[in-house]
Amino acid sequence: MTADARRLLLVAAVALVDADGRVLLAQRPEGKALAGLWEFPGGKVESGETPEQTIVRELREEIGVETKVDCLAPLTFASHTYDDFHLLMPLFVCRRFWGVPQPLEGQALKWVRPIQMRDYPMPPADLPLVPHLIDLL
Ligand code: C5P
Repeated sequence: MTADARRLLLVAAVALVDADGRVLLAQRPEGKALAGLWEFPGGKVESGETPEQTIVRELREEIGVETKVDCLAPLTFASHTYDDFHLLMPLFVCRRFWGVPQPLEGQALKWVRPIQMRDYPMPPADLPLVPHLIDLL
């Protein structure tokens, strides 16, 4: 068997859950890969970071929301092979955060009921996460 030369990409994602049990989805902006698709906020884990630290940083940078590592509960992992890389993506659930999400990077944001998430086209890596959230919420 030949080794798969695709690089491994580690991205951390979060389901922010509001007091009504709705989940925040962000639309990938024009100019980015998979533009127009709706995803869970997050981003690439940088060297020296834990995935939880990545989430705290990305929420601050992308949507101006503050949270803490202790407020993040791991739920599941996405594992998806794209053409040029393999994506491993832990999904955390966060119910404690401070501030109102703002589209600081030009992305659309939407609070969505878990069952409605199926109506939003998502990257293939994110799709298998949805039933886990529906079960949880
Ligand atoms: O967000 P960013 O462009 O840094 O993510 C790198 C890649 O990871 C994207 O091009 C996309 O293929 C994948 N990704 C994904 N689902 C996410 C976030 C990223 O499939 N929620």
